[in-house]
Amino acid sequence: MNTTASTALPGAPQLAYRQDGLYLEAARLDDLASQYGTPLFVYSKAAMLAALAAYQQGFAGRDAQICYAMKANSSLGVLQVFARAGCGFDIVSGGELERVLAAGGDMRKVIFSGVGKTRSEMRQALTAGIGCFNVESEAELDVLSGVALAMGRIAPVSIRVNPNVDPKTHPYISTGLKGNKFGVAHEDALRIYRYAASLAGLQVVGIDCHIGSQITETTPYLDAMDRILDLVDSIEAAGITIEHIDFGGGLGINYNQDAPPAADALWQELLAKLDARGHGGKKLMVEPGRSLVGNAGVCLTEVLYLKPGEQKNFCVIDAAMNDLPRPAMYQAFHAIVPLEPHRDRQQASYDVVGPVCESGDWIGRDRTLAVAAGDRLAVLSAGAYCMSMASNYNTRGRAAEVLVDGEQTHLIRERETAADTFRGEKLLP
Ligand code: PLP
Repeated sequence: MNTTASTALPGAPQLAYRQDGLYLEAARLDDLASQYGTPLFVYSKAAMLAALAAYQQGFAGRDAQICYAMKANSSLGVLQVFARAGCGFDIVSGGELERVLAAGGDMRKVIFSGVGKTRSEMRQALTAGIGCFNVESEAELDVLSGVALAMGRIAPVSIRVNPNVDPKTHPYISTGLKGNKFGVAHEDALRIYRYAASLAGLQVVGIDCHIGSQITETTPYLDAMDRILDLVDSIEAAGITIEHIDFGGGLGINYNQDAPPAADALWQELLAKLDARGHGGKKLMVEPGRSLVGNAGVCLTEVLYLKPGEQKNFCVIDAAMNDLPRPAMYQAFHAIVPLEPHRDRQQASYDVVGPVCESGDWIGRDRTLAVAAGDRLAVLSAGAYCMSMASNYNTRGRAAEVLVDGEQTHLIRERETAADTFRGEKLLP
């Protein structure tokens, strides 16, 4: 049995062992795997709402809007959970905008981030009436103003400022440093705000930053807030009103004994600073993704083969890098635990790998497991940046998804068939 199974599971309390195996809320995961097959993503609605509640408690009594960053998990059933709980959405493409519409989200609570919005995406967002564009360059300001004027509209904008703060996370998910492609430089921001205010197709409404993802410390947020508030002071001194401040997302989760601050504790500190600097009355926005869904989901998988080797033992499972891309992309850690612990079995160390033809297709390295072919495992902390990043590489259909809601389970995505993966392709004449 994996040692992580005997310690607190990431995803607890909704994820817990009982007499007859691992449960998520009231659902026995082995039963779900038998019913829907593997690989299978399973999410807990209660875990999502509990994660959201920490933000809501943090913002109690404040004018604040939580915009779920749907890039973390954009499945429609997941979006519905957040839309019904009053969330807005942070989107980064026209496709994500269509997902908000399909899930019944409120367009006025949508903010549109991203360095490469196309003219057609801008038109789509203006037509839908989104709340704010988070603009990432001067060139984008020009184009957005032109698109809005041509439609007889005024686009509400916030400029994403790069506070040049080190979030102390993986370089691929650090976004607020000078060398990153995101946002405008802090030292250029005032000039760019003046320029934005001069463009007829735009109305400046806010300021935005997002310094990275899987942040487990409070200090980078406090530093970023100081840098952003310095700017708010100088932008307002220049006669431009900032109605809202958007602090982005990025709060980390526990993957492997990580101890990020809880959202309410983090915001208690941030709000104290905001108040102390005289901006406590401003509307606040946040764009959390991972911290709302990451530990609400698991990926169930079956052991296909055990393959002993001279240097390594391999545990070949039916989930792969196309389902769970984070280890291959960021050397990320996901705990892997059995659905039914077999305490009588011999333990061994395995690299847990998928069937994809890449050496990078590993899900866990050097894991102590007591497994046999046919066993089922759960890959934990799989609610964020897994299904939304999944691909059809090796013509593998994407996994099915189930949402657990207390005693009820809902299939929210069917397993893709091979035919689904080549739908839209054309044979030559
Ligand atoms: N906002 C923006 C602009 C992002 O790029 C991201 C993700 O990288 C997020 C919000 C969500 O970040 P996280 O999932 O770490 O909360």
